[in-house]
Amino acid sequence: MTQQQAETVPPLTRLTEDEIILRDSVRAFADAQIRPLVREMDEHAKIPRTLLDALFDLGVMGIEVPESYGGAGGRFFHAVVAVEELSRVDPSIGVLVDVQNTLVINALLRWGTDDVKRRYLPKLAAKMVGAYALSEAGSGSDAFALATRAVATPDGYVLTGRKLWITNGNEADLFIVFANINPEAGYRGISAFIVERGFPGFTVGKKEDKLGIRASSTCELILEECRVPAANVLGEPGTGYKVAIETLNEGRIGIGAQMIGLSKGALEHAIQYTKERKQFGKAIADFQAVQFQLARAAVELEAATLTVYNAARLRDAGRPFLTEAAICKIYSSEVAERITSLAVNLFGGNGFVKEYPVEKLYRDQKIGQIYEGTSNLQLQTIAKQILG
Ligand SMILES: Cc1cc2nc3c(=O)[nH]c(=O)nc-3n(C[C@H](O)[C@H](O)[C@H](O)COP(=O)(O)OP(=O)(O)OC[C@H]3O[C@@H](n4cnc5c(N)ncnc54)[C@H](O)[C@@H]3O)c2cc1C
Repeated sequence: MTQQQAETVPPLTRLTEDEIILRDSVRAFADAQIRPLVREMDEHAKIPRTLLDALFDLGVMGIEVPESYGGAGGRFFHAVVAVEELSRVDPSIGVLVDVQNTLVINALLRWGTDDVKRRYLPKLAAKMVGAYALSEAGSGSDAFALATRAVATPDGYVLTGRKLWITNGNEADLFIVFANINPEAGYRGISAFIVERGFPGFTVGKKEDKLGIRASSTCELILEECRVPAANVLGEPGTGYKVAIETLNEGRIGIGAQMIGLSKGALEHAIQYTKERKQFGKAIADFQAVQFQLARAAVELEAATLTVYNAARLRDAGRPFLTEAAICKIYSSEVAERITSLAVNLFGGNGFVKEYPVEKLYRDQKIGQIYEGTSNLQLQTIAKQILG
């Protein structure tokens, strides 16, 4: 292989110059501006508006929005880098940014008309938080059994139903809402609508009190004859199932990024603590048993990172990535459970109290096996691919 050929196949984890710049700036921001707020945000289950504004200023709320619309003009991989770095410090901020970029903006970029892009992308890059509303009380894994109805009127649609578990519900001003325009057609009646918070008939309901990612809001949405203009249908009517499948296939790579970021954060805490904490006259990191546990965590984190980066790079290269995305989500979330659990163990009693950071990461990781398709659903996708 010539030198030139070798250079056309860069190592998976080698970041480009612009990826390094983004990683370093998001890391510095997360350490300086988010870390001091983590505990308070967890306790009060709230992200302060000042922090949201700072995230917009940092440029991470419109990563793939083209520069002509005021965004950063980045690639999907940039979103992965940002979500990973933010989640290293606070996975609640990681998922806020993840939903904004990998679901909401992603869907608008792919399915939005020029008019939709012109009306919403500049706002999303500058100040508007977005949310993605598919799940309902009766339809989670079986997402296309959704019961929210959309009835056509001369100038648009009237939506009626309830959405559950909607991330960013509290902060969002724009919601991508999935509803069925023709239940007799089953999933082929599902359509995606862009709903603004101020549309008549739309309200944000109860906010959930959660085990982890507590600062990230998870809300019910209530649509009572909510009027949506025809120009706010995303994609063709009846193709909402495609919008949902395709965005979620990509979104779950973002959840993988959240999981490796929080694993990295937990491992860093564990390494620092075990070097400082002394028992039997020496640092607990001097015990080989502890060293091997940390080394195994590093092995698993490296492997999980490779699965996430691979899926993201395949996506940016326009290659198929469905199986790889499912693999990265299930694997990185399982690794996150093991690494955060180890971190709690290595902190001893201090691992179990809120004064130290690892109990929170242990609580935060659990969601990785649930949202954007549970682990069983990821296995179903992988099994379908490998069994043909
Ligand atoms: C914090 C949080 C944030 C969320 N954010 C959003 C959001 O922004 N937007 C949104 O639309 N939704 C969101 N969700 C919803 C989330 O995607 C669903 O909770 C998830 O898809 C699982 O659905 P469910 O809760 O109805 O569980 P169920 O579908 O009832 O699953 C329960 C159990 O049954 C298993 N199961 C179900 N079907 C099968 C099967 N066919 N084979 C094997 N096992 C199966 C599952 O794996 C799981 O273990 C969020 C949820 C939470 C908790």
